[in-house]
Amino acid sequence: MLACPQPRPHLRRATPAHASVALCAALLALGSYAPNASAQVLPATPTVDTLPNGLRVVVLPLNSPGLAAWDVLVRTGARDEIEPGHSGFAHLFEHMMFRGTERMSAHAYEHHMQSLGADNNAYTTEDFTLYTVTLPSRALAQLIPVEADRFQHLHYDEPTFQTETRAVLGEYNKNSANPVRAMWEVLSETAFTQHTYSHTTLGYLADIEAMPTMYTYSQQFFRRFYTPDNCTIIVAGDVQREAVLALVTQHFGAWSGHRDNPTIAVEPAQTAPRRRDLVWPSATTPRVLVGYRVPAFSLANRDSAALEVLGALAFSESSPLYQQWVVRDQRLLGLESWKAEVHRDPGLFVVDARMGASPDPNALESAIQATLDELGRTPPEAARVAAVVSNLRYSLPMSAQTPSASAEMIARWMAVTGDVAAYDTLYRTLAEVTPADVQRVASQILTTAHRTTIALYPAGTAPAGARLVGPGAPRRVVEAPGVTPTPPRAPAARRPTTRRAGGAR
Ligand SMILES: [Zn+2]
Repeated sequence: MLACPQPRPHLRRATPAHASVALCAALLALGSYAPNASAQVLPATPTVDTLPNGLRVVVLPLNSPGLAAWDVLVRTGARDEIEPGHSGFAHLFEHMMFRGTERMSAHAYEHHMQSLGADNNAYTTEDFTLYTVTLPSRALAQLIPVEADRFQHLHYDEPTFQTETRAVLGEYNKNSANPVRAMWEVLSETAFTQHTYSHTTLGYLADIEAMPTMYTYSQQFFRRFYTPDNCTIIVAGDVQREAVLALVTQHFGAWSGHRDNPTIAVEPAQTAPRRRDLVWPSATTPRVLVGYRVPAFSLANRDSAALEVLGALAFSESSPLYQQWVVRDQRLLGLESWKAEVHRDPGLFVVDARMGASPDPNALESAIQATLDELGRTPPEAARVAAVVSNLRYSLPMSAQTPSASAEMIARWMAVTGDVAAYDTLYRTLAEVTPADVQRVASQILTTAHRTTIALYPAGTAPAGARLVGPGAPRRVVEAPGVTPTPPRAPAARRPTTRRAGGAR
């Protein structure tokens, strides 16, 4: 049984962009790679069919004899949790989906998956929930009816629901012991005051504690978001479109319902820098997260692609800042840009620095801003941009070398953009990024006014006024964004990517 959440910053496998920055750094060290500018990311072009009920079916045949991947993308995440007191429900549902139906119990489901030789998993993010299965392709005919059953006829009684909410609470408590999760929670709620990105995917502690009383609401949540028009099935590997479509139509064709479209508050523009100092109750590595408010991910222009390039230029291992602060002066133990914050709505570009024995967050914050300001004044050398672009592009096909990785890449980019071929568009757009684009996003987006800095100090070293977070920290009552009631919050974990180790609970 599964451990759900891993802290985002440690989840290297996570988003394509995150992976690409790390790979990029490695490749820069080896010399640049020049991919074919006209090449596609995937070796084949997926087909997209939409059933009359709105369910989309993406099929990607690959040369992977006997192996297939089956992903179900639900385009609902923590972002959709707009109602006060109900944060964390998208993630809770990731758990509930393994609790069985009237036809098949949770235990029977797990047994069935094992008998098929299937490896199943799921995770939740701010923007979506993804259910993944890797299995022998010949077993698809036995998998699809079972998947259709749980997506249409999920069934659980109140005691079962309450048991699962306690598992989620345990997950929250376990993750509260991770300093970067507390930092991420504070960064989110400081950078966002109205939009639902202000709360973590796990949700507020008070909301999680209240979940056992929300059995009826949970059933409403399922009806509102687990609908065919909010889901996409992605099947990749040793499969054929016609056969997959026939099975999916047979078993999912009668699924009905329409997605609820919650009105999500628009976050007002940030006009001044924000800063929070935190203190951890015991020994820990001092750390700084600097988050810049950035536009929603888009491929309609080059800004999102240019931000990705900028992340590698400014904060990868080959960057001047890294070379000075980490390699030469050894003032930092590590420096990276998460960039990967690829979101449906305006999100954050995050720079993450682990500090050494004599932390100086102010000097670091100034150095990061100076790096960005310089890029905003002077475009980077064309050769450096070209090398970074080359390596970022190379990392896209490299991150999709198996049916499961290919299906997940399609799912993740589709979740954010709605476009099944978004990865190809990104691949092309990256090639078009110019030094002037990097200069533009640095000067217009990554500015002091858009910055939120979170500094974490170990016990005994924090400046006056630093807020205690982590185990033993007092519970706080703060204004929940965009709502009238005031649910208490506590330091928690964030990041979505609650990943289960395979199987149901
Ligand atoms: Zn979980």
